[in-house]
Amino acid sequence: MYLARPALDERCRCCRGHRAADRQRPAIACKGSNMTIHQGSCLCGNVTFAIKGDLPPPSACHCTACRKHSGHFEASVDIPRSALTVTGEAFVGWYQSSEKVRRGFCKTCGSTLFWDPIFHDWTAVAMGAFDTPTHTKIAQHIFVSEKGDYYDIADGLPQNQS
Ligand SMILES: [Zn+2]
Ligand SMILES: [Zn+2]
Repeated sequence: MYLARPALDERCRCCRGHRAADRQRPAIACKGSNMTIHQGSCLCGNVTFAIKGDLPPPSACHCTACRKHSGHFEASVDIPRSALTVTGEAFVGWYQSSEKVRRGFCKTCGSTLFWDPIFHDWTAVAMGAFDTPTHTKIAQHIFVSEKGDYYDIADGLPQNQS
């Protein structure tokens, strides 16, 4: 099978920092290889996203709104907007669940995608939407006081009541 190679002067896809031609030589490591790109999508694929950089530890929110929006509890990771690229934005529906927060979902398939505090410069991205390895772990539970009665939290992580 023939695989097209990038033109010699094309920038490396992973970091755009050096020539792709350099990357094809195994002796020269990609200097940008530490810059991880995480990718995710909704169930139908109309919405995709890419996140530059490592993911911080997610939180699992057990509040009533997250439970209803996600169908269980909502694990999500806070990402600076500058590091988040969303493709298919026209397919994202927004529901304003409180004065300061809107929740993003795919209008076609209903996937829970974003928790967006509109007065901040970051967006929480739902962990269930990731396609690539996240290389992170949930660090804490929040709003445990509102959790459902049909499950126990038994992973030993901190449980915050609010
Ligand atoms: Zn979808
Ligand atoms: Zn919540």
